[in-house]
Amino acid sequence: MAKEKTIINQALPPAAEPIHKLIQEFNKLPGIGPKSAQRLTYYLLRAPEEQTKALADALLSVKQETRLCSTCFNVTDSDPCLICRSDQRDRSQICIVEQPQDILALEHIRIYHGLYHVLHGAISPTEGVGADDIRTKELMNRLQDGSVSEVILATNPTLEGEQTAMYLNKLISPLGIRITRLARGLPFGTELEYADDVTLTRAIEGRQEF
Ligand SMILES: [Zn+2]
Repeated sequence: MAKEKTIINQALPPAAEPIHKLIQEFNKLPGIGPKSAQRLTYYLLRAPEEQTKALADALLSVKQETRLCSTCFNVTDSDPCLICRSDQRDRSQICIVEQPQDILALEHIRIYHGLYHVLHGAISPTEGVGADDIRTKELMNRLQDGSVSEVILATNPTLEGEQTAMYLNKLISPLGIRITRLARGLPFGTELEYADDVTLTRAIEGRQEF
């Protein structure tokens, strides 16, 4: 009996193939190492089937039922997005961010009531990302009708974010619109989405002319 077990163990991979596959998929996610990937996989294996099904459905619908707002390029399930079509927002201000999750961070602190524009990236010559690869043309189109009086450059305080802010400043300056940049309270290298609420509040309240 013991001998037979040994043979079976040698013939089998360390985990059943579906388990191995899910561990690998979790492991590809940001912030999830091999140990966490294993923990999540075995947790789901033990969880009620409805829970795993709800997770699978949520994973699929996040891809299938969302798109980008045709005005601000935030991720939305309706176009224009909630912020763009709200009559509670100040339409004379546009806050420019790199990623949709930056909007979440800024909305969380509830002190900004203007509109947004998501670039979907930052200019990075080392990674081959130029001005045409982010939503700058669409931004410039939005600024043409004269309804915007202030643009807040809220790109990350990183090398790429600063380069992008400088580029946009050059591009927008001739339009005579007030251009501000988030205050220096954010440590260099941080990404907006990870900044704490107090720092982020200070950064937006203390924004300065670019
Ligand atoms: Zn929008």
